[in-house]
Amino acid sequence: MKNITLLGATGSIGKSTLSVVDLHPDKFNIFALSANTNWQQMLDLCNKYQPNYAVMVDEQSAEKLSNVITTDTQILSGAQALDKVAAHQDTDLVMAAIVGAAGMSSALCSAKAGKRIMLANKESLVLAGDIFMKAVKEFNAELIPVDSEHSAIFQCLKSGKAGLNKIQLTASGGPFLRTPISKLKSITPDQACAHPNWSMGRKISVDSATMMNKGLEVIEAHYLFSLRPEQIDVLVHPQSIVHSSVYYEDGSTLSQLGNPDMRSVISYAMSYPQRINSGVAALDLTSIPVLEFYQPDFEKFTCLKLAFEALSKGGNAMGTMNAANEIAVENFLNHQIGFLDIPKIIDQTLSIMKHTTLNSLEEVVNNDLVAREMTREIIKQYG
Ligand code: NAD
Ligand code: MG
Repeated sequence: MKNITLLGATGSIGKSTLSVVDLHPDKFNIFALSANTNWQQMLDLCNKYQPNYAVMVDEQSAEKLSNVITTDTQILSGAQALDKVAAHQDTDLVMAAIVGAAGMSSALCSAKAGKRIMLANKESLVLAGDIFMKAVKEFNAELIPVDSEHSAIFQCLKSGKAGLNKIQLTASGGPFLRTPISKLKSITPDQACAHPNWSMGRKISVDSATMMNKGLEVIEAHYLFSLRPEQIDVLVHPQSIVHSSVYYEDGSTLSQLGNPDMRSVISYAMSYPQRINSGVAALDLTSIPVLEFYQPDFEKFTCLKLAFEALSKGGNAMGTMNAANEIAVENFLNHQIGFLDIPKIIDQTLSIMKHTTLNSLEEVVNNDLVAREMTREIIKQYG
């Protein structure tokens, strides 16, 4: 029986993780759960899974939960409590599925405690890739990607890195792949969140619509697989059936395919090196109309270009870009700025922030805070 700490239990990845756990009550036990504010949903989860710990990051929400809980679950509050349950000696597997930079500290703590980290929170690697990968190595942690493309690459790379030419991350292109730029100006948050293939949280859905998600994933792949930027390709594939590919010197290409459902990715991370039922239907290639592949349009999806540039620049550029993106997306979702303002605001933040190296976690955190403040100032000129 493996004990799981599930960070971000009330989110999209959190729910899919719990649905895989439900299929295997003999293999997995929910040890700890976390959420930000949704205490009502956490109450239901505590009743069902009876975890040892439930963390509500928001203190008022923790208090409300404490007032009504009837199970033996210990309720903790505040961001530090995430670090505690992520590194707890009784936890075996940590699902890092908090959205944004808020998920970095706990993911890093699980690495430092030598856990198996099932990493959905790609922002951790974008912010602090070097520090994170160093901790994984130093503390003998096991890092398994929970991102469909990176899980695909992880699986394909089981045949080794010798003779590897490049990897290719597939991208659905999001809901606006075929929308002309002239129409993008008036896109609403609901339109941006209506992803054609994947059902996800709102932040990553907007990232998919701008293709910043692919940009973050290029950086994620750079750190996960120790690859140079020029070894990482992006290919638009609207059907999301080919999850990603690796290309070898001998002309061989290995790809991983499946229906677009994160439960396959999550169950693989939970059971690796075994495979278990995830509840996802087998792929029926005869029922899929056509598989299409295109080069990405870097002029239309400027965010993808910005991410490649930030990766090449190194230092604080990736963290700055991530911070600016989080603030811009939040403002877009709150109807404060337009869809096309997102890349403009990120670009402006990157050009104003001083380019520096980041040598410690404190510097990473500080850069994130400064970049967020600067983005908020820039946004005041919009709207
Ligand atoms: P979501 O918005 O559905 O859920 C986010 C979770 O994080 C919730 O449980 C929420 O309570 C928690 N949270 C939000 N803000 C927080 C804060 N400040 N402090 C602590 N907890 C907080 O998001 P999601 O779609 O499940 O995505 C989660 C992560 O997984 C993201 O990093 C995303 O990029 C990554 N990811 C998601 C998918 C997907 O299919 N949804 C696929 C690949 C990677
Ligand atoms: Mg992905």
